[in-house]
Amino acid sequence: MMTQYLLSILTEGAVFGIMALGLNVIWGWAGDFDLAYYGYVALGAYITLVLTIGPQTPPAQYILGLQLPYPLALLGAVVASSLMGLIVGLIALRQLRGIYFSIVTLGAVYVLYVMASQYVPLFDGYNGLSGLVNPMGDVLGLDYQSYQYFFLGFCLLLLVLVILFMMRLSGSRFGLALRSLREDERAAAAFGRDIYVLKLKAYVLGAALGGLAGGLFAAYLSAWNPSAWAPIEAIVLYSAVLVGGKGSIRGVVLGVFVMIVLVQESTRFLPDIAGNPNIVPALREIVVGTVLVLFLRFRPQGLLPERRHVDRQLHSYAVASVATSPSAETSDPSATSVPTQETPPVQPVAAVVVSKPRQVVSVEDEPAILVVEGLYKHFGGVAAVNNCSFRVPKGLVTGLIGPNGAGKSTAIDLISGFKMPDAGTVLFEDRLIQGLPPHRISRQGLIRTFQTPREWAGLTVLENVLLAHWDRNREGFWQSLIGTGLIQHLAPEAELARAREIVTELGLNKIGNERAGNLSGGQKRLVEFARIRMAHPDLVILDEPMGGVNPVLGERMAQAIEGFVASGTSVIIVEHNLPFIERVAHHVVVMAQGEVIAAGPFDSLRSNQVVIDAYLGEVTA
Ligand code: ADP
Ligand code: MG
Repeated sequence: MMTQYLLSILTEGAVFGIMALGLNVIWGWAGDFDLAYYGYVALGAYITLVLTIGPQTPPAQYILGLQLPYPLALLGAVVASSLMGLIVGLIALRQLRGIYFSIVTLGAVYVLYVMASQYVPLFDGYNGLSGLVNPMGDVLGLDYQSYQYFFLGFCLLLLVLVILFMMRLSGSRFGLALRSLREDERAAAAFGRDIYVLKLKAYVLGAALGGLAGGLFAAYLSAWNPSAWAPIEAIVLYSAVLVGGKGSIRGVVLGVFVMIVLVQESTRFLPDIAGNPNIVPALREIVVGTVLVLFLRFRPQGLLPERRHVDRQLHSYAVASVATSPSAETSDPSATSVPTQETPPVQPVAAVVVSKPRQVVSVEDEPAILVVEGLYKHFGGVAAVNNCSFRVPKGLVTGLIGPNGAGKSTAIDLISGFKMPDAGTVLFEDRLIQGLPPHRISRQGLIRTFQTPREWAGLTVLENVLLAHWDRNREGFWQSLIGTGLIQHLAPEAELARAREIVTELGLNKIGNERAGNLSGGQKRLVEFARIRMAHPDLVILDEPMGGVNPVLGERMAQAIEGFVASGTSVIIVEHNLPFIERVAHHVVVMAQGEVIAAGPFDSLRSNQVVIDAYLGEVTA
């Protein structure tokens, strides 16, 4: 009796483990709160049943009744759920995010629910399907008791295979790219990720695992009907992922054990209250809800938080190079543990002012890397960008200045593909790029940063830097399944060395293995600079990189910008700190009210009355 009981909860645990790992791909990694997930489980269960059970006596009705071998039916379940995931994902992931995505997926599962329960010829409506008794058992000649062991073994084997598969994926660039979507998908697009395609891959993969779990669940229950299938199940599954540790494979398996095996089973032993048969199931839901709330409040990262790649060599590498680099010793904002304030590096911003501005005779003679012509963007009645035209010389630093609301950030969004221009052209390296999606522009070599830091908070500094380099040949789902473990798997040695070098150069070596979200504002900006170094674009657009940053970091940022130029990257920088612009920019473009009112070397603008009226007057005042 006791063995029987243990066998059954272990089997159930293994099935739910696979189910939760599938959800973890969609929610834990790609960050999509999917309410259709339990629908994929249900579809997998239904498909398994209609593919394995034979014709039954009327009035029972259902399609197929094929009596296929169980493993084939499982495959069918995986295919069916993947297809449904593909269709729902194609629709819901295109534009919708957050709550809108969730609502559409809820709609999708509701459609499935109504079809299954109301359209009787499909899966026999509310009666559901039954009769899948001990699949594979008779072929193997197993008696009832040995079958229970066999099926547990089968489920555990599949669970182990799924875990190994997940570990491989999690340590790959594909897995890391998925998690970058969860952390900040705009930054992911800025570094070349096709958000839609990546999210869709994750979604279909998750749905496939849901289907597999559904097929196993159907065999465990030997039946499936709409009442086996309530929305609360999705919540229980979510609670398992959250309590165990969202994103963490070990955590999710532990979470299933805690929430589904322990919590559920413990309430099963409560005595029935006479006349109130609903109290015990209700208590179970209350316990699940309470645990969920407590975790959200006190331990949102879960029992076993997601692992990060710790690069041991980063430290030794750092020690060696810091020792030989005189500048790194004096200016290290990361010397103290995280989170830190910046410990003042060398020069305060006043020192930046004394530096001599660069002399460039005539920028108009330089070849242009970017030519913006007649760009327009209106938001309702607001003309954010209004006939904006300017050119950006190749191999130099162009400052883009102007009062707040001048349209600088909007112009950057239009150039980099984050917003669609109403009219106008953007010519980048002699190719028209206006209207292209951000990842395609990024892949052509134009990368932008944002007015607020957009680090991938849950990834380490080094992971952030590694991921800045987009490589078509290494980030696919299939490519991610080959290669060797963890950090070596993420990047070839030379690339890893390059990332370590960049991290060290920017003085982030000591915190290179920290999660970027734990850093101070200034350190996050430096991480963004490091990502640009790694990506090595032809043109970078920096939107107020000093915003909210301790000005003592000015010198380090100026050096980083000089480093970009030295490595062949042209720079556009939006900045309100004019001494800084004077120090770093060869050429300055002034915007006001959506258009360019002046352009030229910084000195030439000082005496320009239009610029003084629109901006400089305001700044000096
Ligand atoms: P800047 O970066 O130069 O400070 P912005 O490009 O952020 O200026 O904004 C230009 C103008 O466009 C402002 O008046 C701002 O309020 C408006 N604006 C920017 N984005 C939007 C938006 N998404 N919807 C409506 N108005 C916007
Ligand atoms: Mg702005």
